[in-house]
Order: sequence, then structure tokens, then C-alpha cells
Amino acid sequence: MNLELSEEQEAVRRLAEDFVAREVTPHVVAWDRAEDVDRSIVKKLGAVGFLGLTIPEEYGGSGGDHLAYCLVTEELGRGDSSVRGIVSVSLGLVAKTIASWGDEEQKRAWLPRLASGDAIGCFGLTEPGTGSDAGNLATRAVRDGDGYVIDGSKMFITNGTWADVVLLFARTGDAPGHKGVSAFLVPTDTPGLTRRAIHGKLGLRGQATAELVLDGVRVPAGAMLGPEGKGFSVAMSALAKGRMSVAAGCVGIAQAALDAAVRYAGEREQFGKPIASYQLVQELISDIAVDVDAARLLTWRVADLIDRGEEFATAASKAKLFASEAAVRAANNALQVFGGYGYIDEYPVGKLLRDARVMTLYEGTSQIQKLIIGRALTGVSAF
Ligand code: FAD
Repeated sequence: MNLELSEEQEAVRRLAEDFVAREVTPHVVAWDRAEDVDRSIVKKLGAVGFLGLTIPEEYGGSGGDHLAYCLVTEELGRGDSSVRGIVSVSLGLVAKTIASWGDEEQKRAWLPRLASGDAIGCFGLTEPGTGSDAGNLATRAVRDGDGYVIDGSKMFITNGTWADVVLLFARTGDAPGHKGVSAFLVPTDTPGLTRRAIHGKLGLRGQATAELVLDGVRVPAGAMLGPEGKGFSVAMSALAKGRMSVAAGCVGIAQAALDAAVRYAGEREQFGKPIASYQLVQELISDIAVDVDAARLLTWRVADLIDRGEEFATAASKAKLFASEAAVRAANNALQVFGGYGYIDEYPVGKLLRDARVMTLYEGTSQIQKLIIGRALTGVSAF
């Protein structure tokens, strides 16, 4: 096994690191307090190629393998999880899914715009009454002439207030459970679609999260992504790759926690010596470091499996489960190193902890990841 990055991969990582230092880090505290990022960041992410990673160049993407995608995601997550999430959703859950499941017309219509940042995507699966049991949707799309009419609502939709297109999952026909679900690409300016911003989040405060309400939303038949009744497979394939992206973002959080803890421990003096000289502080730091390495290796393994065309879904669940829990631990340990200053938002670690916490919840909670891993090992579904 060779875990060294190629020159090309290292160049992509450095590009992302420089981008974050220039365009993200100076604004992180202000965006967090304002509960909004400066939305010009999307165009900048597009211009540098980060919204088109792994998307073929013929559709306006910047190509690249999944390890490069992980490296960029990690650096963005190290800088600001809100910015990382914009990319993970618009590229990771929407554009990549269109690239995998879309017909030629859908790819030409959306991929160049999503890759350049001219358009931004959101992923509409969760509903007010339907979270972990994601196949059990109440939103319904009814065939009407040459199109569908969609009614229902979607909850907690990242990028929801400002996205141009929603990859929306709705029940078509009468087939039971997830068998009756289809996927649609719905422009958010379609009449009947309204959105309400959700405020007061514990973390990811710079990120726009919304409830979408669909009231008689009419779309043409060509808006359906993938075959009718295969929408749940579309969603699950998107989330399997998405979990790698969340895991990479968590590695970024844990790495930022490590950087901050080491720096602060060297500067802060108590009892006449830097706190880095105390064994109990070194224990906190070494626990963070082990979490960083373990989370990164699990995540890179998923990228490697995807790039070699191997089965990766269970590995993605393991990486997402471990990395999200590791990011929470790492940020919490870093906060302990900072003492009381860690609790104030002028210092970075409190935000890392708030941002990390949601990673154990979305794209499948930690419990749901365990059920996926358990089913793969035992052959028995415990859902
Ligand atoms: P529930 O499913 O009600 O779960 C509650 C608790 O019960 C959890 O602890 C869960 O693990 C547990 N539980 C449920 N079922 C089982 C079981 N069978 N066995 C054991 N335990 C179980 N969704 C989108 O579609 N698009 C987005 O862009 C998006 N972005 C989000 C952004 C944020 C900030 C947040 C908070 C959520 C976002 N979500 C999004 C929704 C997210 O994916 C859901 O919140 C998540 O899937 C959990 O669903 P729920 O909140 O309804 O919790």
C-alpha cells in the first residue's frame, strides 16, 4: 500500500488549502454569527474547479479522482464546515447523481451550471415526518398529461433557500414503501414551490437550511431522474458517495481541532510552564491525533474503492460513522485544551464542536450507519 499523495493530488490539496486561507478563514467567525456565508463564495468555488470535481470535462467539470475530491473536502471542512457542506450537497449529492443517473439532456442542462457555480443544487429527501425511514415518503407526484404534479413538503434541506434546482424524491404510483419512490429535478422557481429558512441551528450556522413546500408543482415527464420507481436507489447511491464526503469533512474538523490544540498548548502557560508540558494535556492531544489518522485512513479507503470501481457502500458507512464521532471527540478534546477560552467564539474550537455534532445525524444517523454495517455483516436487516 502506498499512502503517499501523487504530485497532482498534493497540488490539488495545496490549492484547496490556499483557497481556504484566502477566501474562507478571514470570514468564518462573521459568517457564523450572521448565520449566512457571503454567497459570492459559490462562484469562487466554481471558478477554482471545486464544484466540478469528478464531473467529466465534457460536462463542464474539472475531472479528478475521488481522493482529490476527499482532499478538497477535507481542506474545506478544516476551514468552514458550512462552505464544505455547500460543495458536498451541490456537487456530491446533486451533480454527481445527475452524472450517474441523468440522460444526456439532463446532464447538458444542469452539470455545466452546477460545476461553474452558476447554479447551486439541493437534495430533497427528508420530510417533516420522515427522516431515518427515508423510503416512507408522503410527498406525492401524480401523473397528469405529459408531466407530473407534486404535492408535499421537505425538511432540513441544505442550500434550500438559495438553490436553483432540487433533486426531489416523491412517491409515484401505488407501489408500497421505497418501491414507489421516484426522483425528479425540479427548478426551484417552478410555480407552487415555496421555501422557509430554518434559523437557530446549533452549528453549520453559515449554511442555508430550509423547509420546502410543494403545492401543485407541475414538472414535465423529462424532469424524472432515473427510471420511475427507482428513486430510492437514486437516493441511496447519492448518499453512499455523500457519506465519504461527510467523512472527509469530519477529518477536516478533527485536523483543525488538532492544529488549534497543539498551537494553544504551546502558547498557554499555567503553573509557570506551557500547558503542552503536562501529560494530561498531551493525552488530550494524542487522542485527537489518533482520531484524525484513523478517520482519514477509513475515508481514503472509500475513495480508493470508488476509483477502482469496487463496492464501497459499507466502507462509506464505516468511514462516516467513525469520522463523525471522531470529529465530535476531537473538537471536544480541543475545547478542553483551550479551557474557558474554548467556550468563546473568538476562538475556533467551540465552532468546530457545534459543526461536528450534526455530522452524526445527517446522511444517516450513527444508529442508521450501524444498521447498514450490521446488515452487511449478518445478512439480516434490523431496520
Ligand atoms: P429520526 O429519524 O426521527 O431519528 C431520531 C432518533 O431515532 C435518532 O437517534 C435515530 O438514530 C433513531 N432511530 C431512528 N430509526 C431507528 C432505528 N431503526 N433503529 C435505531 N435508531 C433509530 N435531509 C435532506 O434530505 N437533505 C438535506 O440537505 C439535509 N440537510 C440537513 C442539514 C441539517 C443541518 C440537518 C440537521 C439535517 C439535514 N437533513 C437533510 C436531514 C437529516 O438527514 C435527518 O435529520 C436525519 O436523516 C435523521 O432524521 P430525523 O431528524 O427525522 O430523525
